[in-house]
Amino acid sequence: KEKQADIVIIGAGGAGMTAAVEAVQKGATNLVVLEKMPITGGNTVRATGGLNAAETPYQEAEGIEDSVELFVEDTMKGGKDLNDPKLVQVMAEQSADAVTWVNEIGGDLSVVGQFGGASVKRIHRPSDTSAVGPMLVNALNAKLKELDVPVFLETEAVHILLSEEGAVQGVQAVTKGGEPYTISCKAVILATGGFGANSEMVVKYKKDLDGFCTTNHSGATGDGIVMAEELKAGLVDIDQIQTHPTVNPDTTTMYTEGVRGNGAILVNRSGKRFVNELETRDVVSEAILNQEGKTCFMVFDQSVRDSLSAIEKYIGQGIITQADTPEELAEALGVDKDQLKATLEQYAKYQAEGKDTEFGRESMEVPLSMPPYYAGLCAPAVHHTMGGVKIDTTTQVLKEDGSAIPGLFAAGEVVGGVHGANRLGGNAVTDIVVFGRLAGSAAYDYVAANG
Ligand code: ADP
Repeated sequence: KEKQADIVIIGAGGAGMTAAVEAVQKGATNLVVLEKMPITGGNTVRATGGLNAAETPYQEAEGIEDSVELFVEDTMKGGKDLNDPKLVQVMAEQSADAVTWVNEIGGDLSVVGQFGGASVKRIHRPSDTSAVGPMLVNALNAKLKELDVPVFLETEAVHILLSEEGAVQGVQAVTKGGEPYTISCKAVILATGGFGANSEMVVKYKKDLDGFCTTNHSGATGDGIVMAEELKAGLVDIDQIQTHPTVNPDTTTMYTEGVRGNGAILVNRSGKRFVNELETRDVVSEAILNQEGKTCFMVFDQSVRDSLSAIEKYIGQGIITQADTPEELAEALGVDKDQLKATLEQYAKYQAEGKDTEFGRESMEVPLSMPPYYAGLCAPAVHHTMGGVKIDTTTQVLKEDGSAIPGLFAAGEVVGGVHGANRLGGNAVTDIVVFGRLAGSAAYDYVAANG
């Protein structure tokens, strides 16, 4: 089979679908999206947090004082200054527009909350307590349908083809039945996501993650990184792999950070807290691995349950222990009774005083004193691969020496440099929307100039 398009987008997750919509909004008419899985959405549909954005009308309405500078500062600090500051600047500058754009295409980001690593309330979420990922993916799916953009499911890209001059000229793919076909094109947007579900690749770049489970969808196998490497694209921070601290090790269900954000604490098998629960993911993950059993319990009360619909899902899966009193909860978990009770009483005191003198937790939403009490087992799991393909601020893919591969653009988790050594919760969705839009726009401009 031989096909032709101006722009081929590889991957129908958040970044790829955003790029497709933006390209059409700019004027592109001949583009296709290839998706190897039977459904769109990739890891994006699993995103539970929200979208970090600074200087939005929603923050202003709540009197939250935020700025692009502070967003950059928090992101760089969270990423241990390994991030590419130019990419972070672009992400922060365009974050408020990203919120507007998502709402304009039929999404809903209108509630502002607190999340780990952010100095102020900055994470934007849907108003109906539904998770951000499904909201965004549903909106993008509907928009692509409305715009008549063809999305070929179960079609896996295997190579990007270059002309003799080294410019993009096509994509080689295979259908579900193993049938190969080639699409000739002028530009490619690589939006294949990360490699968290490719344990071989994870261990290749970070040995100490051998044996870890993952929160990722099974298609997150790093195909885009391999395809880009064939073209001598540069790779950035490829060994920077994030574990999410609160994952149920039996079911690999990830408890959204919002459970802690809305009040939950973490206790070890002695019934003691051991970390500021709202610290960045690397710090909390590391702290859990230092506890007995390399696991811990996330403990919360009825008020936290009432605040977050995601918790109903965890309860439905049978992974949450429930009890009427802290003592009974401790007993059910096999944790020291008196200690857990004392921990909760101490925490309630900190909450009332607004000061956690032990671990310095700043946001303590509730005193955790409304029965029944709940707990879920937690362990860190591979969550996000920060490293990836090297791009400039227009999403143009670069070789190691900084020269461009003409016609090749990339956005989303396949890219390295935005999050440095540690991604803050809420920054993946910002990354996807901001750089997805830039990629759609850059590919359109490139085709217009080189068509
Ligand atoms: P992001 O939004 O950051 O790009 P996602 O994981 O949400 O990340 O989306 C990436 C998408 O790319 C997934 O749906 C995944 O199945 C798809 N994908 C990965 N590799 C290929 C490939 N070789 N061909 C087509 N689609 C791919």
